[in-house]
Amino acid sequence: MINLLLDIIYPPSCEACGTLIPSRSELLCIKCRLNLSRTDYHKLRRNPVAQHFWGRLQVERATSFLHFREQSICQQLIHKLKYEGRPDIGVALGRLLASELKVNGFFEEIDLILPIPMHKAKQKKRGYNQAERLAYGVALQTSIEISTDHLLKGIHTESQTKKGRAKRFENVRDSFSLQNERDLDSKHILLIDDVITTGSTLEACGRLLKDRLDCRLSILTLAATD
Ligand SMILES: [Zn+2]
Repeated sequence: MINLLLDIIYPPSCEACGTLIPSRSELLCIKCRLNLSRTDYHKLRRNPVAQHFWGRLQVERATSFLHFREQSICQQLIHKLKYEGRPDIGVALGRLLASELKVNGFFEEIDLILPIPMHKAKQKKRGYNQAERLAYGVALQTSIEISTDHLLKGIHTESQTKKGRAKRFENVRDSFSLQNERDLDSKHILLIDDVITTGSTLEACGRLLKDRLDCRLSILTLAATD
């Protein structure tokens, strides 16, 4: 009833162009959905995201769904997700990307999804962790279990933007921790984050898991900077 009233007062519209759409859960109109800057990296084992980790971390599969480009629909949606209090956009995008990636078997043999955690104080301020919302959408679409209790973030790291790769890695390396790690032994784990830029956060989490456990790793992000 509340939803029906809401639809009458604020008819559901495309999050990118504002065109009216039949249902809020669709997020985008057909045109904007088609115009998303898809990478199609999941169709290639050797792709730019997988190459990020070559010689740094052993991964089974790695991909990003979209190119993160200035003025793109992707940038618009990520801005709403991160800075405009719209966790629903994360869930909807998680569902959308999972429905497309699963056609090519990207999720085969994956046992557990771990979203990249956020520092508690930062999460409290934002009200949610956007990587976790994305991961939740993927979990809904694939029925793969998700955990936010094993991989944790403690130390508050400084801004990543003005540091070199080695410095950045040093900075993030010690800021993650594991608990109840035996549950994860011999599992194929999918790490999920919103955007990959240098890959240092995903590498730090991946190395922590690989150092402490006998596990397989795959990596998925919503978007990648070119
Ligand atoms: Zn649109």
